[in-house]
Amino acid sequence: MSTPRFSIVIPCYNEEGNLPVLLERIRAAMYPLELTYEIVITDDCSTDGSWKLLQELADKEPRLRVQRFAFNCGESAAVWAGIKAARGEYVITMDADLQNDPAEIPRFVQALAHYDCVSGSRVGTRKYGDNLLRVLTSRVGNWVRNRLSGDQVSDSGCTFRAFRRECAANIMPFNGMHRFMPTLIKMEGFRVGEIEVVNQPRHAGRSHYGFFNRLVFLQDLFAVRWMKKRKLRYQIADRVEAQSIDRAAPPG
Ligand code: UDP
Ligand code: MG
Repeated sequence: MSTPRFSIVIPCYNEEGNLPVLLERIRAAMYPLELTYEIVITDDCSTDGSWKLLQELADKEPRLRVQRFAFNCGESAAVWAGIKAARGEYVITMDADLQNDPAEIPRFVQALAHYDCVSGSRVGTRKYGDNLLRVLTSRVGNWVRNRLSGDQVSDSGCTFRAFRRECAANIMPFNGMHRFMPTLIKMEGFRVGEIEVVNQPRHAGRSHYGFFNRLVFLQDLFAVRWMKKRKLRYQIADRVEAQSIDRAAPPG
């Protein structure tokens, strides 16, 4: 069997201060693994120099593929467009701001031997990379999410994940989806596991979210709960196939 290919999928909105370091660290993490991989970055119509820089970086880095949205579509759309463009059998998603440390990629690759999807969990180290308000809203958010969705995902909002590309083939993309991927992938019947990751502080720039624009997650939560309850479940017990589908003989 040929070695599986990996696609590292990254959404990017105004991250010019992070991109060169991010690529360098990904290269350093991937080199010892001797894996075939590409990096797919979707620029969510940045207003800083990210797009120009990405084009320059793609000129020098043959594994880098970049695409740019016509208008700012949001993180979920940028991740989804990257997953759709991915050519690897496996996808690794991570943020562009180095809050996810590329040095942890090998641990995801190892864990994929046991799961179809491996989700990062920042529970133990959330406080290193985010302020107290963020830590608390994330705790409460995860608790409410697990209660309402009947799921057990310790940090569903952690976007550092690795999965077989087919895990995402049939999920319904929606704005806010990036906070529910482990649940959505479980709903498709795949095995989802977790590994602890370290939540780093942002390398450069500022978070794109505040307290209020995160609250929309409650609305999404009810939608996911509904989807989970109403998802079609069936099992064919028996079947007799047609004997022929050739053109029928004229009647009579
Ligand atoms: N992002 C994006 N479009 C947006 C907002 C964010 O593509 O409208 C990207 C951003 O560049 C980063 C990731 O999504 O790679 C996570 O964003 P951020 O770090 O601001 O979120 P936080 O870590 O604060 O939750
Ligand atoms: Mg961040």
